[in-house]
Amino acid sequence: MSEVLVLIDHVDGAVKKPTYELLTIAKRLGEPSAVFIGAGDKAAEVAEKVKKYGAEKVYVIDDAQLKGYLVAPKAEALQQLAEKTSPAAILIPSSAEGKEIGARLSIKLESGLITDAVDVQEGGVATQSVFAGNYTLTGKVTKGTPIITVKPNSAAPEESEGAGSVEEFSVSVSDGAKTAQIVAAQPRQATGRPELTEAAIVVSGGRGTGGNFEPVEAFADALGAAVGASRAAVDSGWKPHSFQVGQTGKTVSPQLYVANGISGAIQHRAGMQTSKTIVAVNKDEEAPMFELVDFGVVGDLHAVLPAATEEITKR
Ligand code: FAD
Repeated sequence: MSEVLVLIDHVDGAVKKPTYELLTIAKRLGEPSAVFIGAGDKAAEVAEKVKKYGAEKVYVIDDAQLKGYLVAPKAEALQQLAEKTSPAAILIPSSAEGKEIGARLSIKLESGLITDAVDVQEGGVATQSVFAGNYTLTGKVTKGTPIITVKPNSAAPEESEGAGSVEEFSVSVSDGAKTAQIVAAQPRQATGRPELTEAAIVVSGGRGTGGNFEPVEAFADALGAAVGASRAAVDSGWKPHSFQVGQTGKTVSPQLYVANGISGAIQHRAGMQTSKTIVAVNKDEEAPMFELVDFGVVGDLHAVLPAATEEITKR
């Protein structure tokens, strides 16, 4: 069976959930091989983790040359590995970094690229949600090695023990790839909540909160969810831009999205309508968000959410 390379998204020995989702998807396309690229970043720990999600092989590119640079050296490293292994496909998490790596790699390998897939099935048939979610597109790479970047929450990660055999791979990074260097990195402030784009559940608040996000946050915490916001809430200064969901904010695709006091403007929908289940709380039964929902509650969020939170915490 042909190998499918999965680029691992990792920080300080921790592997991000989308990597496990990609390993699960990779099993539909061939034999999953995980690729670690880093510089002294606890490769052994990472290899142990990906093995539990079916990685048969773990390529370790652990090289001081890669330290402190932006994405170009990673794309070169992946190119060299792909040229050696001729994989059936390359899967990359659809983060900003992942998409840039995918784009650079597709030029280097002269291969087709599909970005922001929400599903990939046997034979590399990928599904994308395009034009602000108004069209669902099914496509396939027809040239070279298929490179597909896949959005978080596109598959439920399935644990399965792979052989996890570690293979060191050395790369040579060109000077041209070292022209942009990281001078400072600011880690996301620890909130105790999951990262918005990766969370399985997102609870968002809009103008209808009137600036009081307490019920939204308490409900989110009861569910172990991330907190999001509409642009109206962000523009009002109630939440920073990093919380914004939508066309000019983040795109989320969780298992469950709960919109509270959000009218459902097209620009907000663009960032959340591929969510698997959508619930809305709005006091206006005519709110456009209700056209999109699986479950809707007509009511004041300041009354509905505390009651729902109480019910959940009782269980
Ligand atoms: P509103 O539209 O004012 O809706 C508030 C809702 O809350 C209403 O439906 C109301 O019935 C309900 N409500 C009020 N009080 C309560 C209560 N007590 N309980 C329950 N419900 C209540 N928007 C985004 O969100 N994300 C984007 O990325 C984005 N990008 C944009 C890009 C462009 C180029 C443009 C032009 C606009 C963009 N917008 C974006 C803005 C978008 O058009 C809407 O203005 C915005 O989404 C409205 O936010 P809202 O739903 O919170 O507010």
